[in-house]
Amino acid sequence: MTNIKEKLRRIFSHDIGIDLGTANTLVYLRGRGIVINEPSVVAVNQKTGQVVAVGAEAKAMLGRTPAHISAIRPLVDGVISDFEVTEEMLAYLLGKAQESSRKILAPRVVVGVPSGITSVEIRAVRDAARNAGAGMVHIVEEPMAAAIGMRLPIHDPVGSMVVDIGGGTSDIAVLSLGGVVRAKNLRVAGDRFNQDIISYVRNQFKILIGEKTAEAVKFVATALIPEGDTLEARVKGRDLVTGLPREVIITDADIREALSASIEALVLGIREVLETTPPEVIADVIERGIFLAGGGALLHGLPELLESELNIPIHVASDPLSAVARGTGVILEDIEKFRDILIENEDDLPQKI
Ligand code: ADP
Ligand code: MG
Repeated sequence: MTNIKEKLRRIFSHDIGIDLGTANTLVYLRGRGIVINEPSVVAVNQKTGQVVAVGAEAKAMLGRTPAHISAIRPLVDGVISDFEVTEEMLAYLLGKAQESSRKILAPRVVVGVPSGITSVEIRAVRDAARNAGAGMVHIVEEPMAAAIGMRLPIHDPVGSMVVDIGGGTSDIAVLSLGGVVRAKNLRVAGDRFNQDIISYVRNQFKILIGEKTAEAVKFVATALIPEGDTLEARVKGRDLVTGLPREVIITDADIREALSASIEALVLGIREVLETTPPEVIADVIERGIFLAGGGALLHGLPELLESELNIPIHVASDPLSAVARGTGVILEDIEKFRDILIENEDDLPQKI
């Protein structure tokens, strides 16, 4: 039940949910849904310190900027590596989200952060959001937000396992009774897969390709479980010997080879969390399965591969890229119901391994 005070607050200020991802930032406006979905990239003019572009426009500049402009990804490995740029990005996004109807009070903001983030980093996120114009700032761990976005029964005495494979990190978490029972944060996710492809192509074909090309290859040529047809991607890169452009064909077999060590690390990470999870909760996970979110969940063949490696059913969130943002939206609809899962005090962080 919303009381009068809460109703008034809603009239005079916006409620905004933010998934501050390493690869993509999504913004949810209560009553409207997801209003912004942009790459987490900011282009800064180094001479003036001014922000030149944010989001897709800035991403297009990655690897192509003149000397005085740098395209920065302010979140590396899921944590804020560049505080000022993160703040600028948040200010821009909060402004844009409220563009059509600015209200008189500062917005209430729910921000998703990776599990495994330290209290110092949480304080940094909170400060960045406040400086960017937020009023009340509530922090939620991303796997919890993803679980809420997937409508998992996180408040019930039943274990749910969520694996959120993003750009910089994969968050593995077991949730029950509104808390994080076990969690692990791996630096093996989408960015690493791109790097794996770059290294493989360099070693095998002796050509150098850029990160964007590697990502494009990952999208079209991945089949972690071999299928009937061979998948192929033509890529152009710089020949390491002659220095001239050269084209090669990369197949799904190449990608399997390129990604094998990282995929193994991901499987191992999930196993480690399972091994330390209390038996009652494990029984729930084995019965109910593991829920995948994040862009990495779209890696072709990954659900099937995990299912056969772990012998546990795998479910992929519908639209895994927006699960966390949708979760922040569900929280905003009824913040009292989710009060217990929000991190209000940085010194009171849940247990992790
Ligand atoms: P973050 O939460 O860290 O911002 P996201 O959940 O937005 O990350 O996922 C971004 C990652 O997902 C990127 O590394 C991207 O390459 C990867 N990704 C997105 N779509 C696909 C796809 N169809 N196949 C494989 N990987 C994908
Ligand atoms: Mg994410």
